[in-house]
Amino acid sequence: MAISIHPLVDHGVKAGSPSFSGGTLTCKCASDPVTVSIGANVAFDHVCGCTKCWKPAGALFSLVAVVPRDKLKVTAHAHKLKIVDESAVIQRYRCTGCGVHLYGRIEKTDHAFHGFDFVHPELFKEHGWAAPEFAAFVSSIIESGFPPARMGEVRARLKELKLEPYDCLSPALMDAIATHAAKQKGVLAG
Ligand SMILES: [Zn+2]
Ligand SMILES: [Zn+2]
Repeated sequence: MAISIHPLVDHGVKAGSPSFSGGTLTCKCASDPVTVSIGANVAFDHVCGCTKCWKPAGALFSLVAVVPRDKLKVTAHAHKLKIVDESAVIQRYRCTGCGVHLYGRIEKTDHAFHGFDFVHPELFKEHGWAAPEFAAFVSSIIESGFPPARMGEVRARLKELKLEPYDCLSPALMDAIATHAAKQKGVLAG
């Protein structure tokens, strides 16, 4: 029995549609769900093993991507949203009814990813969002209690799914963070 990564990738990663241009994220509440309108496709879609991202029950990894913050708008029942941890760099807005995180926002204007909101594409009602491309913070699943001795199985399964496992973010995103830091320090021309 193959190890379960996340229900939406366990049977193979589904390709996205190049024409996808956004849709509506909906929380899991049976009544008065929070809805968030997204006016763009997602980028840098990936599975994440960190302990902060929202994951569906039983999943080892979350499915998370970014959208430009000006393309995200809460369209219903915003009063149900509460920030999980006000002191965290990413302020994750959680539905107090069902526990789902609708989006995460970085308010620090000097942060490398300021201007992007983190969303969970599985909450889209629509299909066709960009497919996950890699696995981030893989070793962090141990912090949720996953047995370290089984990490080889997890990394092998991720490779089989063509979700290259990284223990931080992907090289492209780590390069973006380092480039931002170098420009702030003045060692790299803007
Ligand atoms: Zn809810
Ligand atoms: Zn995460």
